[in-house]
Amino acid sequence: MNDETWRDNEGEENPEIIAHYDLLERVGIIDRIDRLTAEIRNLEELYKEGLDIFSKTSIPELVEYVTARLLNKFVPSYLAFVLHDEERSLVPRIFCYRNMKLVENLLTIDSLEPYESFFLRYPNTISFSLLEYKLENPGITEKLLPLFPEIIVPIIGIGGFYGFIVFGRKLLEREYTRQEIAYLDRLMRFTSVSIQNNIHYRSAITDYKTRLYNHSFFTRRFDEESSRIKRHHSEASLLMLDIDHFKRFNDTYGHQAGDDALFKVARVMESCVRKEDVTARFGGEEFIILLVQSRLDIAWTVAERIRTTVENSRFVDGKATLTVSIGVVHISDLDDRPFNALVEMADEALYRSKRGGRNRTTFHNPGLFEKALEASRFTGPAVSSPGS
Ligand code: GH3
Ligand code: MG
Ligand code: MG
Repeated sequence: MNDETWRDNEGEENPEIIAHYDLLERVGIIDRIDRLTAEIRNLEELYKEGLDIFSKTSIPELVEYVTARLLNKFVPSYLAFVLHDEERSLVPRIFCYRNMKLVENLLTIDSLEPYESFFLRYPNTISFSLLEYKLENPGITEKLLPLFPEIIVPIIGIGGFYGFIVFGRKLLEREYTRQEIAYLDRLMRFTSVSIQNNIHYRSAITDYKTRLYNHSFFTRRFDEESSRIKRHHSEASLLMLDIDHFKRFNDTYGHQAGDDALFKVARVMESCVRKEDVTARFGGEEFIILLVQSRLDIAWTVAERIRTTVENSRFVDGKATLTVSIGVVHISDLDDRPFNALVEMADEALYRSKRGGRNRTTFHNPGLFEKALEASRFTGPAVSSPGS
């Protein structure tokens, strides 16, 4: 009997098989077919999961999906994704789950270095007890103990070591079976590749120093947003920001302090905008923000919130201060001005902020500016309209 006969007749429905069923069963063929059929089903499922995993565009989204898939198979009492920070310079990113619920501060791992040097030599899924034995360094392995760790899966790819995943003991049964470990191993291979892709994509669209989006990504997002404004008769605002007297700051406190300040100003901007807004480093100590679907008074409020938060922040050992000047352009669905023209207008408004004494917000369009002022009922001094 050849392979095709099997498939054509769906296994047991084939009369020849029925005739020889006892024999086939006795020699273990039926059993083997059952196991192979189950294996094919598992691989088909894994294939689908793999495609889903590759479609995730952020690491938190990916981690959430993989966790949900695991829940389908078995429930680890603890599960943690311990990943290198994108630039490898900060503490690792850790996603910890207890009974499949995200919990914070369960693990404190300052550096992945000791794990990295081990897993680069031993790039395989490993039981925790074997890891303890091989590492011979309780100081490192005991950090994982809050997870009641059983299995560790390293994530290794073209960029080297990306981190590892820890599986705590299962909620119901004690041991992981060989099939479960094989499944984990396969699923984690897809997960590793997807984590690598996400990290590479992220670093291609962000600025290394500030972790904000870079210039080219901003331009792309702006194009998408301006088509949307026209389609949906929406509106948006463009904010251009420049740190005041930054050269002096560098000269006084040094270039590293300047870099740290850029990073901190970036965090201030992020904290003042919504998730859907786009904040980018435009170059040097200049930033650009696209506030999507934002009325004029919102643009005004956000700009002033950024300006005053920077003004009230302290840099370099809690002592040094900084201020920013801001220029704002409002964009409506009637706008046909190209990106460059809008940037130029925001720049002009920014220049007026500088000329007016710095640490202020200026709107490009004086008429709109009055309206924004009225809407926000603001009468403070740190604002200037063009021509004022
Ligand atoms: P103004 O208020 O007119 O903007 O004065 P300014 O000193 O900020 O402007 P200027 O254009 O004269 O100088 C900008 C300074 O920003 C000079 C440059 O060294 C500094 N700068 C630009 N990029 C970086 C960076 O990545 N790190 C650090 N530390 N400094 C930077
Ligand atoms: Mg400057
Ligand atoms: Mg500048």
